[in-house]
Amino acid sequence: MLNAVEALLRLREGNHRFVADQSATAALSNSARREALVAGQEPFAIILGCSDSRVPAELVFDQTFGDLFVIRVAGNIVAPSQIGSVEFAASRFGTRLVVVMGHTQCGAISATLEELQGGATNQSRNLRSIVDRVRPSVETLLSGRWQSTDDLVREAVRANVRASVNHLRHGSELLEKLIQETGLLVVGAEYSLETGIVDFFENIPATAQRGLFGGMLA
Ligand SMILES: [Zn+2]
Repeated sequence: MLNAVEALLRLREGNHRFVADQSATAALSNSARREALVAGQEPFAIILGCSDSRVPAELVFDQTFGDLFVIRVAGNIVAPSQIGSVEFAASRFGTRLVVVMGHTQCGAISATLEELQGGATNQSRNLRSIVDRVRPSVETLLSGRWQSTDDLVREAVRANVRASVNHLRHGSELLEKLIQETGLLVVGAEYSLETGIVDFFENIPATAQRGLFGGMLA
């Protein structure tokens, strides 16, 4: 199993290929690969991403069957079932990297901001459960001064990712233990619909940067 930094590097390289239209995995998404995985899986990264149809994790990281354990939910929120899914993959498969990936133009974030600004409030209880998870991390932004609504949404997307990262890091005894004892890493990222680039914005441990990759992950 790759360690967290190796896994992060592999995701970054995959995203570079995706952006450059140079997929190396499209040819691997076939029946032979599928059959080889029937006996088991060893995903090297766990991705908690948004359900948005424009952000399929395997494609934007140029990965294929068996590579990523993907949890998708509108607004990439963290509720008990998401934590449980991360715990399952990290403990069952030994996966050492968790990426919470938000994206630009996220409808779940926009809907939350609209509601906080006095817009539509007639959502179903179920939809409300998503908005309620997003709200705490973005409502403090409303008192700030923003050049435009786009700027506010952009910052809200990132604030929501950071909140989900914090929740995963500190909302589970099992994950805390894996972080301390096995080097499990939980990082935030933002995918740009406009450029296809995934921007990882959590700090990578300095020792890993210097020791393994000479600052490539900075
Ligand atoms: Zn979204």
